[in-house]
Amino acid sequence: MRPIYIFGEDETSYRFHEDHPFNPLRLELTTSLLIAAGKLSKSECVSPPLASVEALALVHDFDYIEAVQAAAAGELSTLKANKFGLGTEDTPIFPTIHEGAARLVGGTIHALDLVASGKAERAFHVGGGLHHGMRRKASGFCVYNDAAVAIAHVRKQYGSRVLYVDTDAHHGDGVQWLFYDDDDVMTLSIHETGRYLFPGTGMVTERGNGKGYGYSWNVPVDAFTQDDSFLTCYETVLREACEWFKPDIILTQNGADAHVFDPLT
Ligand SMILES: [Zn+2]
Repeated sequence: MRPIYIFGEDETSYRFHEDHPFNPLRLELTTSLLIAAGKLSKSECVSPPLASVEALALVHDFDYIEAVQAAAAGELSTLKANKFGLGTEDTPIFPTIHEGAARLVGGTIHALDLVASGKAERAFHVGGGLHHGMRRKASGFCVYNDAAVAIAHVRKQYGSRVLYVDTDAHHGDGVQWLFYDDDDVMTLSIHETGRYLFPGTGMVTERGNGKGYGYSWNVPVDAFTQDDSFLTCYETVLREACEWFKPDIILTQNGADAHVFDPLT
């Protein structure tokens, strides 16, 4: 079975401003590179639906969603924006902030739906990975947490046990904290140590809480870690996590900023 490739041109509406480092041009370049390399045809790209407010509310508070909608309409006070982490240098407000963020969530929900329902073995949502989004706070370029909403969705719809694997250079804090008490969702993050890098968390001692204790795994590695060490970490912990947790679905966040040429990490 061929993996499903999820990308719609309207996903590029999640764009802060011209000089912001989180530029959706990367989605178009990745897609056109795959097409040019003969690995994908344009007709195979599946355009994601918009996530509903009800879906977003599986992990986000209603007053936060309302604040994002108000921000999009230019009707959010500075006081409220500060409270919800909106309008910062990292996560500035733009007119399509709600719709753009909700569409990215829709893509990841769609990917997990395809796999949970057995329609696909694998699905790849190129625009996903907004792992810093919190229950009621935007953070680090992320407004809504697509992975967390999609996990909550398949938990509710199919009862699937989900292993979340995050290899972005930054710690997958939002997803970790949103399922910190949950023993049906396991989070595993391999990242550059938070000693100098945003968001500063992801220590080995963050292991979960209550019945979720032991279901949060963190592997912080030093800056300038090379491929061999990284791969040893990845292969060892992923194998152990799968054997122990026995997930129904694995959701990976493949943030490419661990690449040696990435300017931010
Ligand atoms: Zn990152």
